[in-house]
Amino acid sequence: MFTKFMLLFCSCFIFTNVLKADKLADIKKAGVMVAGIKYDFKPFGFINKSGSIVGFDVDLLKYIANSLNVGLKFKQVTSKTRIPMIVSGEVDVAAASMTHKHKRDHVIDFSISYFFDGQAMLVRSDEKETSFRGFENRKVAAIQGATSGNNFKKVQPKAKIIYYQEYPQAVLSLLKGKVDAITTDLVWCVTQAQDSRGKLKVLTETLSYEPYGIGMSENESNLRDYINFAIQDAVRDGFYEKLYIKWFGKKPEKLPEVWPN
Ligand code: GLU
Repeated sequence: MFTKFMLLFCSCFIFTNVLKADKLADIKKAGVMVAGIKYDFKPFGFINKSGSIVGFDVDLLKYIANSLNVGLKFKQVTSKTRIPMIVSGEVDVAAASMTHKHKRDHVIDFSISYFFDGQAMLVRSDEKETSFRGFENRKVAAIQGATSGNNFKKVQPKAKIIYYQEYPQAVLSLLKGKVDAITTDLVWCVTQAQDSRGKLKVLTETLSYEPYGIGMSENESNLRDYINFAIQDAVRDGFYEKLYIKWFGKKPEKLPEVWPN
């Protein structure tokens, strides 16, 4: 009888504590937020010439961590690893050029959208084709885990999509002529073209809507609220606009939504 009672007591205790699990409280207690960030997606998350991890996503995370009064520890994620690393708890959050899609929301949760992009195409400067539809039977690179390969197939099902693990490998292949194009979000494409000293250009026809959200575990309502409010604070106090000008050289055309107090 006593054993049965103890078992019931222990199960209730464990159950209540699981229910009370709160990642925001854990982050505050640890004094550090572990954040997944891209190292290969300039200007959102990348390693600069002096070896530091920088970018729009990095600065936004720093703002959030500062407002929470905790430190930040970065862990590298790729398009393929970011969601599994959130699910496994390796990172508390990931700000990683990640489009908030219904499908992804079945696995993790997202903040409000903090950036708005669309999918474009990066090609060599001597490319004659100007339309995405014209890439029938040609090799188009996309990154594993990104939205881009599937999006492109809808526009030109006869393109040969070649998947790469990371963006720099795809750029190298494009420069060497192993693929004819890379398809992904416009801002990355434009940045690569600018850095290429005339070797690459962008086909800016936009084939999808890609709103970025910060990813985190499912059912962490306190953390999600905190991050949503922090993004909105950044808009209200002008930090968001400064950050946008810093990384994109112009004022934002669209701001993240701000809810009334
Ligand atoms: N934003 C798109 C996505 O989430 C493409 C960029 C990326 O690879 O992160 O899949």
